[in-house]
Amino acid sequence: MAKMHKTEEEWRAELTPEQFRVLRQHGTERAFTGELNDHKGKGIYLCAGCGEELFASDDKFDSGSGWPSFTRPSEAQQVETHTDTSHGMIRTEVHCSRCDGHLGHVFPDGPAPTGQRYCINSVSLKFKDGDS
Ligand SMILES: [Zn+2]
Repeated sequence: MAKMHKTEEEWRAELTPEQFRVLRQHGTERAFTGELNDHKGKGIYLCAGCGEELFASDDKFDSGSGWPSFTRPSEAQQVETHTDTSHGMIRTEVHCSRCDGHLGHVFPDGPAPTGQRYCINSVSLKFKDGDS
């Protein structure tokens, strides 16, 4: 996938302060505060940074964690991961393949069939209604 490169100033101009803090500075929104946490519509969740399609509503589930949770990305190549050792924990960080925006973390305690739980900040996503 072709990478999108923008300067910090360009990102700051395009994103809300909260989006900038999460997407570009690896922040985390407070649990149960995101507007997409309980969202149940049918459609696609896009990257709030670049508009790439990241997750499908069919893969969203209620994890009780307070963040939107998915069993998998809509296409495996849409997201990339790397090991995050911040905050004294070893976690797997998830970011958008296109703009490198920070999305959240993935944990190996999700439901079948993948066993994965992509725990994603609402503020990193934009919902697009699909045909249902
Ligand atoms: Zn992106």
